[in-house]
Amino acid sequence: MSDFGIIVHGGAGSFTASSRAEIPARKNALKLSAIAGYTILRRRGSSTDAVEAAIKVMEDSKIFNAGSGSSLDLEGNITMDAAIMNGKLDCGAIAGGNVSKNPISLARLVMEKSDHVLIAGSEQLRRFSRSLGFSPMELRPTHQRLSQYSANIRLMKKGAVRAWPNNYRLLKSYFPENPSPSENDTVGAVAVDKESHVCAGVSTGGRWLKLPGRVGDSAIIGAGIYADDNSGAASATGMGEEIIRMCLCKTVCDLLKKGLGPQEACDGAISILTKARGAGNAGVIAIDKFGRFGSSRNTQMLQRAFMFNSLAKTHVAVLPTEGDPKQRSQNKFKDLMF
Ligand code: ASP
Repeated sequence: MSDFGIIVHGGAGSFTASSRAEIPARKNALKLSAIAGYTILRRRGSSTDAVEAAIKVMEDSKIFNAGSGSSLDLEGNITMDAAIMNGKLDCGAIAGGNVSKNPISLARLVMEKSDHVLIAGSEQLRRFSRSLGFSPMELRPTHQRLSQYSANIRLMKKGAVRAWPNNYRLLKSYFPENPSPSENDTVGAVAVDKESHVCAGVSTGGRWLKLPGRVGDSAIIGAGIYADDNSGAASATGMGEEIIRMCLCKTVCDLLKKGLGPQEACDGAISILTKARGAGNAGVIAIDKFGRFGSSRNTQMLQRAFMFNSLAKTHVAVLPTEGDPKQRSQNKFKDLMF
């Protein structure tokens, strides 16, 4: 029998001292997010409404690298990417914007109110918002993000940042002198509603210390998200450049279309990525129209929460030892080689 429900993620990566200290707060925010989405689904709401509502909770929490908690680029600015896609292949995305506290809602407006799939740049997004009667709102970095930024810049200047090895050569033009933070707390959600329609969404401040203008996977359909009622929906997190190279979420959905269950499809796509590009760079969650779900990562952790009609309660898993609730995967193609 078909199920309905939602999975949300709060990013994949490795634990730092501060992220460990925040685990209870992160778990609480993930739970609230899953409940917000599930409440809509239970009342016969659409998976699109559920995904948007769930992601808004995480964007507003200031805990994750999205919305009010966004990380800062090399010049200390917030520039966010977000995207949403439903099972009818409707999709919308924004890139490099700081004009709304909820970029996921802005991405939905691109999907529903424009003829485009992606609008990039704060100035352009400001005009787009105004054309729809919304007042643009610029987010300021939180105190915590500002002190993380100073610490990261110090590390970068010392040459101690592992991410962005090529950017070191470019730094002189961004700084008078010559700046991997490993916290990746992008947020995302996938849901299936009572009508068996799927939706995927994602929202991020992008990677710490990215070059201004850099666009990550979270704005790219097929990379950071994908959804199709004929296969399922997926949302990714991690090093955007690797996720874009592998079209990670489209890969998950292609595997679903071949008949794999969501768990095998997530494992398969992560395995393809790891073989091609190494480990430690991504996590992905997925769902199909039957309400079967999966999640996989090649990182130390993938913060996630699940709420399905068939489950008695919201399950939250952050630590590597915390498993997922029963995953209704077919295991039919278990022996398939990746
Ligand atoms: N994928 C995001 C990006 O590269 C970051 C993340 O998921 O943490 O912008």
